[in-house]
Amino acid sequence: MTPLRTDLTVLTVPAFKDNYLWLIHDGINAAVVDPGDAAPILQALQAHGLTLTAILLTHHHADHIGGVPRLLEHAGVPVFGPRSDGIDAVTVPLGEGDRVAVPGLDLELAVLDVPGHTLGHIAYVRDAPDEPWLFCGDTLFGAGCGRLFEGTPAQMADSLGKLAALPDATLVYCAHEYTLSNLRFAEAVEPGNKALQMRIENDNRARGAGLATVPSNIAIEKATNPFLRTTEPGIAESLVAAGKLAPGADALTTFAALREWKNVF
Ligand SMILES: [Zn+2]
Repeated sequence: MTPLRTDLTVLTVPAFKDNYLWLIHDGINAAVVDPGDAAPILQALQAHGLTLTAILLTHHHADHIGGVPRLLEHAGVPVFGPRSDGIDAVTVPLGEGDRVAVPGLDLELAVLDVPGHTLGHIAYVRDAPDEPWLFCGDTLFGAGCGRLFEGTPAQMADSLGKLAALPDATLVYCAHEYTLSNLRFAEAVEPGNKALQMRIENDNRARGAGLATVPSNIAIEKATNPFLRTTEPGIAESLVAAGKLAPGADALTTFAALREWKNVF
């Protein structure tokens, strides 16, 4: 059986200094992920002649939910979001194992719990084999990961492990353009990583041309993102050499030390 494929597009909508809001559409209807600001979304809807049919939220921070009230004035759509991240506007609470049939679109998303950045943070996965997507909010970034505002290193390491286990081709739609700054840290941690050197070249070229470095994919992140590579001996060696880690530490201690180092890098 070959199901009919409706072509879906993901529009990159920049907001604030370095946020990306994601607008998923089929040319008629659209769902927005993490609308921190309503104005650029309303503008994009109008420019492309789209009707808003759903709002999807990953966590409670203002730069991810700030635009929700104004969007709801514009269109009374369901608001999907984490069950336990304290967001009043959520009308369809979600957690690990839930699946979302996105209203108005031929799109199904699976939900993962990814605590760490916030305690209730969730991620959305389109597990279609032809074009898998991940909307991971502030959990996984290009060559980096979110700060641990609420969760523990163990929670974040576990959450990143779930994302790293997704298929290599999964496009990573994270919520910020932090890649170049993350790559500078990654290079300090893993100076001998050839895939990382190639990524630094590519992403610098992209930013130089005014392009987004996002989405990347899971294969690229596994090859270059130090937070997904804490079992590589070179990473622990760099931490030890920098005086950030005692020799012989396990992967979780290494992860915690790596996150600490990035905070002050
Ligand atoms: Zn956040």
